[in-house]
Amino acid sequence: MKIVSPDVAVIGAGPVGCVTALAFARRGAKVTLLEAQPNNKKRLAGEWLHPPALEVLERLGVSLSPDTVNYDTGLGFVVFPDDGSKPIRLEYPSGAKGLSCEHNSIVSTLREAASDRKEIDFISHARVTRIQGQQLSVESFQQGDPFTVVADRIVGADGRASIARKAMGISHNPQPISYMAGVLLENVKLPFEGFGHVLLGGVGPALIYRIGENKVRMCLDVPLNVPKKLANLWDAYRSIIPSELLEAFRQALAENRVVWVANQHSSRTYYGRPGLSLVGDATGYFHPMTATGMTVGFMDAERLVESHSFKDYQNQRNFGSYVPEMLATTLYQVFCRDDESAVAIRRAIYQMWREDPTECFRTMHLLSGAQTKIFHFTGSFIKGLAMAVKSVFENNIATGQWRNLLRVSLAFAQWLRLPMTIAVSRFWKNPRGSMSLKEGV
Ligand SMILES: Cc1cc2nc3c(=O)[nH]c(=O)nc-3n(C[C@H](O)[C@H](O)[C@H](O)COP(=O)(O)OP(=O)(O)OC[C@H]3O[C@@H](n4cnc5c(N)ncnc54)[C@H](O)[C@@H]3O)c2cc1C
Repeated sequence: MKIVSPDVAVIGAGPVGCVTALAFARRGAKVTLLEAQPNNKKRLAGEWLHPPALEVLERLGVSLSPDTVNYDTGLGFVVFPDDGSKPIRLEYPSGAKGLSCEHNSIVSTLREAASDRKEIDFISHARVTRIQGQQLSVESFQQGDPFTVVADRIVGADGRASIARKAMGISHNPQPISYMAGVLLENVKLPFEGFGHVLLGGVGPALIYRIGENKVRMCLDVPLNVPKKLANLWDAYRSIIPSELLEAFRQALAENRVVWVANQHSSRTYYGRPGLSLVGDATGYFHPMTATGMTVGFMDAERLVESHSFKDYQNQRNFGSYVPEMLATTLYQVFCRDDESAVAIRRAIYQMWREDPTECFRTMHLLSGAQTKIFHFTGSFIKGLAMAVKSVFENNIATGQWRNLLRVSLAFAQWLRLPMTIAVSRFWKNPRGSMSLKEGV
């Protein structure tokens, strides 16, 4: 049987696998990059890249934009509050820019860049079926015969159903959160061109952004208890969709331009072992509300290549990816829950963003992954929580609703458990491998 012996073997040529291969190649390593499903093009997955992700690509000499991105994009987000008040604009700080385009276009560009590097042997239609020590068994659908790859460094960049994670016996119990309906709108103008639009007040939050000159993506978060029917999407979201997009939305549903995917949470708790590291979704994943999966994965790749040891990599990413995971999980809860504590926290956040430009700056720094220091996140979180508690206390005391006050106080205390539960599962390893969201909230 044929044996291939590169310096590094990367399993999976998704966005993070390609970036990992490119980062190792840049340091002169010989890399074998293996991809099982090169033709999986219709998938609904990451389409928004924050500025730090583009900076990683720039360092690797990859540009996504020149020919394909001839529209305004990547300026930041505009939040449409659920109380009908004026939209709030959150721009990336210091003129930084992100980018949104079709997932397939990101992956194709990265795969082309990998194929062009002489240090990378990109083998497509090649599925890793077994990992024993530093040896991979690979089934090849194009070359016919199976072959073996032996490498001192193996990287599992094989996504949510990672065989690398399985081979290490790491348990994997993803928590279902909701469904995402990806709806494709054609020939519409967005109210705030260049921005991602976050719409609140529907049965779940919605995110809308441009992915092409004539194409706009709507990501509608559908709770698990709402049946996945097209008619439900119209009824559930039309009240929050800006009027200029409604006709295109109706048309897209009539033509079934909808792709469904399950949103799940699996905490980024394990990074592998010496000789077999995990990167990207193979380490864990969370709700795509904050659009940070690829940005975090690209940072995994850079840190892995720069780390002196596996332990060093693991420590860096344990701390470096806590804030993005925490922010995505907490913001999703804040945006979709309807109990009194969540409503009060939402209002407090709107107020903070409206009154304090430094909070907008801090939010976008945290959201984009540029700032990963825990105290920056906890500072904003505690401030929002304190403002919400104050307003609820004042209202309930003024109206003498003591029982309700006690009930909401307990609900507020629960909000503090979420960051702590994720911290515990991450820094004091949870033997079950992933925590339950219910433990946190
Ligand atoms: C609805 C939705 C919206 C999202 N939006 C955003 C967003 O806007 N921005 C953002 O940054 N992130 C977003 N994400 C998250 C983002 O899509 C993921 O974080 C990202 O795709 C992870 O990349 P990856 O390379 O780690 O894994 P994947 O993209 O899953 O790639 C893994 C690759 O490995 C291959 N593979 C698997 N097993 C094997 C095997 N045994 N042998 C060989 N190859 C194998 C697969 O075929 C695949 O090509 C979103 C996710 C969802 C679900």
